[in-house]
Amino acid sequence: MKRFQIWTDFTAAPSANEQMTIIHIVKDRTARIPTPSVYRGEPLFQGPDAPAYDNLMACVKCGLCLSVCPTYATDAVEIQSPRGRVQLMLAVEQGQIPLADPVVEHLYHCLDCRACETVCPSEVRVGEQVLLMRGLAEGERPRHWLARLILEQLMTHPERLELAAWPLRLYQWLGIQWLVRKSGVLRLLPKALQSMERLLPTLPRTPLRRALPEVTPAVGARSYRVGFFLGCVMSLVFAKTSARTVRVLAENGCEVVLPKAQKCCGAPHAGEGDIATLKHLARHNVDLFAGYELDYIVADCAACSAQTKEYAQLLDDDPAYAERARAFAAKVRDVTEFLAEIPLREPAAEVRRKVTYHEACHLCHVQGITQEPRRVLGVIPGVELAEMREASWCCGSAGIYNLTHVERADQILDRKLDNIASTGADTVATANPGCLLQLMAGVRERGMAVDVVHPVDLLAESYGADRA
Ligand code: SF4
Ligand code: SF4
Repeated sequence: MKRFQIWTDFTAAPSANEQMTIIHIVKDRTARIPTPSVYRGEPLFQGPDAPAYDNLMACVKCGLCLSVCPTYATDAVEIQSPRGRVQLMLAVEQGQIPLADPVVEHLYHCLDCRACETVCPSEVRVGEQVLLMRGLAEGERPRHWLARLILEQLMTHPERLELAAWPLRLYQWLGIQWLVRKSGVLRLLPKALQSMERLLPTLPRTPLRRALPEVTPAVGARSYRVGFFLGCVMSLVFAKTSARTVRVLAENGCEVVLPKAQKCCGAPHAGEGDIATLKHLARHNVDLFAGYELDYIVADCAACSAQTKEYAQLLDDDPAYAERARAFAAKVRDVTEFLAEIPLREPAAEVRRKVTYHEACHLCHVQGITQEPRRVLGVIPGVELAEMREASWCCGSAGIYNLTHVERADQILDRKLDNIASTGADTVATANPGCLLQLMAGVRERGMAVDVVHPVDLLAESYGADRA
């Protein structure tokens, strides 16, 4: 840290032009990007949990990624762009600047939406490298207290998470939420708490993990035995939706198995650079699901399906788990992907809605799933699909980004809401709980007459399987 303070003092800056340019990039909003490719040495960080240096070096600075990066769109400065982040990480790898604030702080401004990865001609995996660099920065920078509580104490223990939801239920049932929202007292709270409150929808009485039987039989002949990966937020908040997912799967010949001891997929931990906990959770889930004879593992949370597919890569260097993690990941399907893959039972009842589809980043950019959810929506009689502009542009939710970077997340959400409004749709469908929460809060605060649902909600309605 001390070293960095000396470096950011321009009167005492080192003479090398390259170091000066790196300092400009952090300090000066108009600075040009540095040229670290002249560096010939070894990268500072190596090993399986370090950013892939070769991948960073593949950046040709073409700038194609700038047009799709939400943080670049809000700030219009190089340091908030994928290209700027690559150069910043290279400068760290080459020992030109230390991995400390404000460099780390800048890395946390990235949404990890991976939109840049979809368009990059050099296949630079900017979001992935940013996450790994955050992991290395752990210890250099204390984690936000709220992030620590959620990630380390609650999300690693489903029972604690369920227990922690009780005060929130009472807060809603006793009418305190209504009072708090009406009175404006919220404005007196810290921003992270304000944001948490406004995102809070009405919670179900019982988490689905407790309410659902361990095995739900197929309706009619069994074609598949499917393990259901029930996300934490889906179980606690969107229990009705996930119950519908199970019914839709059962209607399509699936015997659905819910291993009750499953834990969080680790996506929130990956976002905050907590790689050790992420690996711990991955090993637990791989072990657990291996105990069941399953054809597929299906998740109706895009972040869960994306994260669990990455278990193979995550545990690749662990001889005890590499093969089992690969076998696990090969079975994982997002529910929209799975339903588009199998011969789908034709939905019968009309669902008269004009629907626009918001693509969750973890579905479109991380898993490359874009057409499948639209195909599922397209077979529902009565549904009129209206494409929004920038459907694959992040909504600002991004894990817990909307709690830790409230203002920036709000700016990104505003852009999404404008695009939804311009379609004239009465319903927006999206396949990720973080997006559902963010969009629900957004449409409510703007007073838009728009329902926010998961594609499976509409399919279940058409099947007449809506008996939650
Ligand atoms: S699109 Fe890829 S190669 Fe081009 S500037 Fe962005 S990260 Fe670098
Ligand atoms: S992951 Fe998203 S926010 Fe981060 S650099 Fe890429 S496009 Fe920008």
